[in-house]
Amino acid sequence: MKTILVVDDNSVALNLAKSILSDTYSVVTAISGEECISILSKASCDLILLDIRMPNLNGVETLKKLKENELTAEIPIIFLTGDTDPEMERECFELGAYDVIRKPFQKTTLKVRISRTLELIELQKDLKGQLLEKTKEITRISLKSMMMIANTVDKKDPLAANHSTNVAWFAVEIAKRMGWNSDELFNLQNLALVHDIGNICVSDNIIRKNGPLTSNEYEAVKKHTSLGRSILQDLTVIRKAAEVAETHHEHYDGTGYPNGLAGDAIPIESRIIAVADALDSMTSDRSFRKRLDNPTILHQLQNGRGTQFDPAMADIAISLVKENKIAPIPSELEPEVDLASESSKLLQKVLQEYTKEVKTDAQKDALTGLWNRAYTIDFLNEFLVDKRHCGCFFMIDIDGFKHINDTYGHITGDSIIVKLADTLKKIVRSDDIVCRIGGDEFIVFFKGVASREFASSKAEEIILTLDRDKNEYHISVSIGIATAPYDGNDFVTLYNKADKALYHVKENGKHSYHFYSDVIGHVRSTAKSTQIDLEYLRRFISEPGSSPIGAYQVKYDTFKKIYNYMLRAQKRSKTPLLLLLLTLSGAGDETLESDILDSALACLKESVTTSLRCGDVATNYSSSQFIVILTDANEANGYTIAERIRSRFYKSIDNPSVKLNYVIDSSPEAISHSSFEDRDFDVDSDDSFIVGRENNGEETFN
Ligand code: GH3
Ligand code: MG
Repeated sequence: MKTILVVDDNSVALNLAKSILSDTYSVVTAISGEECISILSKASCDLILLDIRMPNLNGVETLKKLKENELTAEIPIIFLTGDTDPEMERECFELGAYDVIRKPFQKTTLKVRISRTLELIELQKDLKGQLLEKTKEITRISLKSMMMIANTVDKKDPLAANHSTNVAWFAVEIAKRMGWNSDELFNLQNLALVHDIGNICVSDNIIRKNGPLTSNEYEAVKKHTSLGRSILQDLTVIRKAAEVAETHHEHYDGTGYPNGLAGDAIPIESRIIAVADALDSMTSDRSFRKRLDNPTILHQLQNGRGTQFDPAMADIAISLVKENKIAPIPSELEPEVDLASESSKLLQKVLQEYTKEVKTDAQKDALTGLWNRAYTIDFLNEFLVDKRHCGCFFMIDIDGFKHINDTYGHITGDSIIVKLADTLKKIVRSDDIVCRIGGDEFIVFFKGVASREFASSKAEEIILTLDRDKNEYHISVSIGIATAPYDGNDFVTLYNKADKALYHVKENGKHSYHFYSDVIGHVRSTAKSTQIDLEYLRRFISEPGSSPIGAYQVKYDTFKKIYNYMLRAQKRSKTPLLLLLLTLSGAGDETLESDILDSALACLKESVTTSLRCGDVATNYSSSQFIVILTDANEANGYTIAERIRSRFYKSIDNPSVKLNYVIDSSPEAISHSSFEDRDFDVDSDDSFIVGRENNGEETFN
């Protein structure tokens, strides 16, 4: 039976209330506020009916006194009042009364309102209990998720698999000796479990690296503190989680990171975790060294006392080591997998998504949204570890970009960089890597293909797309190409080789592409493309079917000799050969006047020189024609190159009445007989080539 305490200075009212309620409740009475307080100091009750107007301690003052005492503060109160003042009623509710009943009261009204109030109180208690249960459940689930994430982070380095649980164990051991209570120890254990959560965003390669870190790698590692802070900043189940994730690498003397905090400015939990962290790393095998022996550990702790570590905690760590209490028991902290409920999985997923976002942001170039250098290095090194993987590595650099910046300003420069990024994104396949390495330099890595044809067609597509764009700033690019794994199977090697090939293009008129494999042993990297490289030609022609090196312009007679030789080589080795004949004329196909023709021919010569691929050979065929031997080419290559020449020609010619036509002949023998034979060649006797062939002895072509 519930007990109700009725407090009223009017004994008639007291007795009336008692007589109405006694059949349902156990009723106790008090005739003053003082008596009420005195009764409640000895026994409790379920509800108080409290008169407002009483001498000495009135109802409101009595209520205030009851609220001050934690034993009576929660007892529900209903005020009894003869007042009709609504203001008084409002004040009663504000003070925390459950109800206000006017005197004189009706029997039924009194009973109903009391029973309703008691029901309401029961309901509230029930809800509070449920809420408490749910909160506990959520806390437990969240902590399990934290534990799973801590384990996931630890597993990034197989040799530090129990790092977080070990640190938690050491931290709790230290804090116990500092007299922390169980709630503080529990929170500290959880802080230690998640303190390295930011590592989820640090590249596995760096975390697993077997050797000292480079300064860039060290910078990447240092970021795990601020990343940890941003991952944990909204977490409330672990107190100070974000703060500790950020500050656990601060040193007591202010020389740590990320903020150089010192002494008590570093949260005490972080100071404990810093020592626990060091203890675990010294007592565990690491990828770069074995576990240290106890004298060395003691020496290190002594050394770090007051500099790296808070002296008080370093002293406790020293006593732990001396007592040989250094064997953590990770199994005690292992999560119970069966407790991984749906909600904890969900929380884990949310965190993973979040960290993916953070990670992605750190991997993208801010201006273009392309991958950045750091990501590309990590990606390629990881991808190419597998010896079966291959790819084409393009290094692309905008031609004359300084001039664009100087002429149109950096903002226009930036928009050109963004536009080029978009063009590259359209040309690559969905899982190729496009990266802005910095400034006006880009890297494209075509995954899984290493064929020259593929690389050439993509390089031409990039160059032609930009040409076709007719962009108002006449943007063109130069491309150096290296292939993996033939030229290298790590980022730095491929980068250096593609860079050499790019340099070759830049030195030879830009606006083109070149393979690194063609640069090797190339003796004319600074020579003008109009000069003939006899050494090269000997080597090139001596090995039909091998990779051609360099584009050349020669005199017609030399051209004819090369052509005839190549024709024979083609027959023997089936090396594809095409002839491209370019002809200048007036708009209605009429012959051009000689001065117009001269300047048009000079312009054509320039367009041909800068458009040919390595290994192609060109000559002036007549006063209005150019002829080109395209080596190792199919018809599609032929049209691509012819169109490139045309587009460059029309871009640079300033006379609209000049027209450039071309024909491509894939059966060069026909041209050989029809066109070549009936020309009167002025053969220069110096231009005869001796070609050494391995098995055939010496061979001359004339
Ligand atoms: P080259 O044809 O030899 O490549 O000549 P270039 O003028 O393009 O010279 P280079 O590639 O060496 O120089 C790149 C220039 O790009 C240098 C710098 O002024 C400019 N640059 C670098 N970063 C940015 C950027 O973020 N925005 C803009 N607008 N310009 C940049
Ligand atoms: Mg440039």
